[in-house]
Amino acid sequence: MNSVDKKQIVIIGAGLTGLTLAFYLKKQGKEVLIVEKSAKTGGVIQSVKDDEFVYEKGPNTGVVGNPEVAELFEELEGLCTFEAANPDAKRRLIWKKGKWRAIPSGLFSAVTTPLFSLGDKFRILGEPFRKKGTNPDENLADFVKRRLGVSFLNYAVDPFISGVYAGDTNYLIPRFALPKLYALEQNYGSFIKGTMQKAKERKNNPRLQKATREVFSAKGGLKNLIVALTEKVGTESILLNAKNTTVSKTENGFEISTEINGENITIQSGKVITTVGGYELGNLLPFLSSEEKAPFEELKYASVVQAVVGYRNWKGINLKAFGGLVPTIEQRDILGVLFTSSFLSGRAPKNGALLSVFLGGTKRPEIFEMEDEEIEDTISREFRQMMGMPIFRPDLFEIFRYKYAIPQYGLSSGKRFEIIGLIQQKYPGLILAGNIRDGIGMADRIKQARTIAEELN
Ligand SMILES: Cc1cc2nc3c(=O)[nH]c(=O)nc-3n(C[C@H](O)[C@H](O)[C@H](O)COP(=O)(O)OP(=O)(O)OC[C@H]3O[C@@H](n4cnc5c(N)ncnc54)[C@H](O)[C@@H]3O)c2cc1C
Repeated sequence: MNSVDKKQIVIIGAGLTGLTLAFYLKKQGKEVLIVEKSAKTGGVIQSVKDDEFVYEKGPNTGVVGNPEVAELFEELEGLCTFEAANPDAKRRLIWKKGKWRAIPSGLFSAVTTPLFSLGDKFRILGEPFRKKGTNPDENLADFVKRRLGVSFLNYAVDPFISGVYAGDTNYLIPRFALPKLYALEQNYGSFIKGTMQKAKERKNNPRLQKATREVFSAKGGLKNLIVALTEKVGTESILLNAKNTTVSKTENGFEISTEINGENITIQSGKVITTVGGYELGNLLPFLSSEEKAPFEELKYASVVQAVVGYRNWKGINLKAFGGLVPTIEQRDILGVLFTSSFLSGRAPKNGALLSVFLGGTKRPEIFEMEDEEIEDTISREFRQMMGMPIFRPDLFEIFRYKYAIPQYGLSSGKRFEIIGLIQQKYPGLILAGNIRDGIGMADRIKQARTIAEELN
């Protein structure tokens, strides 16, 4: 059987980017169809609720890093509820020499913390007066060493990068991977001066004040954000289980061919927006030349293993914190642990705990290849030493693997962004979105989707 349809805009992928995009486009009155290969919407966002625990298989929390996040939740009021992490999440731990240490939160703790060397503590006083960098291709490790010193690299930025990118500071390039931080140095000459100036700008701009930098989820799990978006978009506008999708160029636009339960479906459209990973683009857009495909094939991803660990009755260390991150220099086998039930409500029974452990990343790719038993043994060993648990016997334990979890914005990103621009110019109506550009977090995805929708208005 073969059916042919016409749609104004086709979006490939029903993850957070595709759904948010479809939501805003439909609000403008556009006729949109999402083509999704899996049986569910949400992409990597998948929450699970059992009798005792609510846990995430993919991302656990985002950061309200831009007003678009707050505004999306405002739009979805009544369908899903924004949940800000409670104040415990302000406390963040770093593993150093056999102990969790809190990241300084004030002047006194900054002076007394054992995380940073005395020399670097003095050095930071000179940060506002340090010359700004002139090499746009400088890697993150060199960038941080130059401005703040080695101990800040090892015990602040390296573990932060493990938590966000599961990546390597020697590979990531600040102007692509942390553009806001890079801009502080370039525009204001210093992180400290720039942060103070930005705070002033925010004070005078009510919209910018919505970017609270709070840690967020949705009440009951991030899935509820996906359910709300899916409802707004409408299931009639989403084709699930669409296999072997390809896009071809026609005289007036594009033809999207896909296969659902053995039925071939063809859709004609003037606009196609892809939200898929770089590793999918070549097959999806076979008309691209090998030079055009190359930057996507070369895009490096961190593979990540996440394990949820739940206890009905927690007897280990004090969990009043966002979680703990482990610097590479400490040579342990986990990247970090999120203490989810400490700062989000209803995630574990009273007196219990729900934790997420992260392993692998670009520095430990071999962990992704391990059997489940080996991963469980690794977590068990680390938990006994790091989490105050003499015996590892959780009431909930599950492992999730992501081969292409987080794209790494290294030096080749400049070329990739340039080629995306050239492709979009050469094939009018084709937009390449998703985390191949514009950042890797949920807040970036929401902002990108909203921006594209506004550009198409
Ligand atoms: C383990 C993990 C932890 C994370 N932690 C955080 C975090 O703590 N905070 C944060 O802000 N962000 C985090 N992220 C990143 C965040 O989850 C993503 O930025 C965001 O959810 C990506 O949404 P997306 O729609 O762009 O992509 P995806 O969620 O990957 O969605 C893409 C969709 O496209 C579909 N698709 C792919 N190929 C095709 C095809 N050929 N045809 C049709 N459909 C196709 C896929 O099935 C999928 O549904 C994490 C990501 C992972 C994997």
